[in-house]
Amino acid sequence: MSESRSEISQLGEFGLIERISNNFSLQNASSVKGIGDDAAVIDAGDDYLLLSTDMLVEGIHFDLGYMPLQHLGYKAVAVNVSDIAAMNGKAEQITVSLALTNRFSVEAVDALYQGIKAACANYKVDLVGGDTTSSVSGLVISISVTGRVKKDRVAYRSGAQVNDIICVTGDLGAAFMGLQVLVREKEVFMTDPNMQPDLEKFEYLVSRQLKPEARTEIIFDLEEAGVKPTSMIDVSDGLASELFHIGKQSGMGIRIFEDKVPIDELTFQTAVEFNLDPITCALNGGEDYELLFTIAQSDYEKIKNHPDIHSIGYMHDKKDQNLMISKQGTVVPLRAQGWDHFAS
Ligand code: ADP
Ligand code: MG
Repeated sequence: MSESRSEISQLGEFGLIERISNNFSLQNASSVKGIGDDAAVIDAGDDYLLLSTDMLVEGIHFDLGYMPLQHLGYKAVAVNVSDIAAMNGKAEQITVSLALTNRFSVEAVDALYQGIKAACANYKVDLVGGDTTSSVSGLVISISVTGRVKKDRVAYRSGAQVNDIICVTGDLGAAFMGLQVLVREKEVFMTDPNMQPDLEKFEYLVSRQLKPEARTEIIFDLEEAGVKPTSMIDVSDGLASELFHIGKQSGMGIRIFEDKVPIDELTFQTAVEFNLDPITCALNGGEDYELLFTIAQSDYEKIKNHPDIHSIGYMHDKKDQNLMISKQGTVVPLRAQGWDHFAS
């Protein structure tokens, strides 16, 4: 008897998650939002409790050849805090689970936890538990985070309305270019160990890759300005991929303008140096951990002078029509590539 076998790469990461999610339904009244957003939403009485988890795997998400353990610890916390921010919430507790190989010394674990501690201090979250086990092939670090949001402030991926303005914080593509620089310098070093890596010029890009920050201050700024985002997501896979999630879950289309997509000058120049198209890096690079959100047009005045919030387009009523107006004024379909760890 032969059993059929399907490759995960055919479904892709999102297809696989959808398949899992279709097979489950929520049984508890307190489970307000399950699979499908940046964090789960749980009714905790006066507030909503937020719960999310993210795993980083050696060889897939990081290379210890260029990622110092301290930075890895910091990043693992920051990316989790970012998912709570993407629900318009504030992170409060984390648990940290590690699978370690015998390659790691006590000092190496200390370094990892120095980074975790720095992030806990910076984001004011408490380490409250975890799990420790061994691994045969590489380091795995999995962090879960809880957070809290007032019930009337929670922001889902699905709430965008027609004509809402699409906003993104900071700048995009820098973390991806930082990775390209690190990979290139590592190759140079492997072929000639006497060559010292020349990273100074690329410091901003490398720091965006190695030490990303969650945009927690934006959550406070929006509340202070009296703005509730109609939808929100953090940019982990790439702007295009995240725009698709907002469009799909809100049941509408996206229209953005190429010249409005924020790209740092150094990102732009370095992309050109690497023979890459800067806008492609910004759209598909990923790991920026900026916040992407939509607001009602009537709220635009309240945030338009914020130095770190950029409006890049608007929502329209034609579902699945996700478009970018190029600098030349032509209309190009957006493509969501994102990261596909299952692609062969
Ligand atoms: P993010 O990029 O914000 O971390 P993901 O794309 O990883 O989000 O996940 C999207 C949604 O799918 C989330 O709600 C997440 O909890 C859920 N999810 C991911 N993997 C699994 C899994 N193996 N089983 C159940 N839910 C999952
Ligand atoms: Mg997310």
